[in-house]
Amino acid sequence: MNQTAYNPDEVVYRPRGGLTGRVQKHFARRLGVTPLKIKLDRPIITFSFDDFPKTAMELGAARLKARGWRGSFFVSGGLAGVSNHHGDLFDPEDLEALQADGHEIGCHGYSHLDASRLTAEAVASDAARNRAFLKEAGLHRAPASYAFAYGEATPQAKKRLLETYSSLRGVQPGINRGIADRGLLKAMPLDGGEAGLKRALAAVKEVRRNPGWLIFYGHDISKSPSEWGCTPEFLDVVLHAVEQSGAQVRTQSEALKAILARQ
Ligand SMILES: [Zn+2]
Repeated sequence: MNQTAYNPDEVVYRPRGGLTGRVQKHFARRLGVTPLKIKLDRPIITFSFDDFPKTAMELGAARLKARGWRGSFFVSGGLAGVSNHHGDLFDPEDLEALQADGHEIGCHGYSHLDASRLTAEAVASDAARNRAFLKEAGLHRAPASYAFAYGEATPQAKKRLLETYSSLRGVQPGINRGIADRGLLKAMPLDGGEAGLKRALAAVKEVRRNPGWLIFYGHDISKSPSEWGCTPEFLDVVLHAVEQSGAQVRTQSEALKAILARQ
């Protein structure tokens, strides 16, 4: 059994794997679901970046904007100014600039904690600390979207955070359609090299064939990316495919509004 001790300060923390991890994920996904009916004629695609490295801003936000699109950037206040395996992460002054450019600043918890190890109240208070951090950084609009660090959630934390945020994102691969979970939206990674690029392009093709809400999430964008990052060329190929698909590109909160407006 994989019973590694929980240490959020570990350089590269990995959530529980093995049978314990699978059982935990199963319940987090199946229970405490807040149904979101998604009925679309035209697909919606969201690009999100977690943590987030400066390269996501310099190479990701800029590329989205060049196409008239905007992205969602999920911030953990405790990671401000930090350098880690993703490279240099954001500085607080980057946030206002991104928001002024029309990008969404979302909440990723202050301390980038694994919610599956915590009570819902502890997750909520860490999220509140992050909202205070964002306010301090000059963002006066409270964040509407949340992304669980490592995609790890519990049924209780999903319900608790939806008292504050309009939608919560995880990392379970897939396209949100039919009846989705507003408390743990599925998302496809922008990582994994050649195989990951194939998977991302297949998702664009699939959402074009059968419209739904496809959310991408990425981290660093670099010539030699981390395990959770991609190259600028990888992103360019995906952006081109999205452009060709005729999908609307929206931030997470705008996508949710568009979906709710159709109900
Ligand atoms: Zn993260």
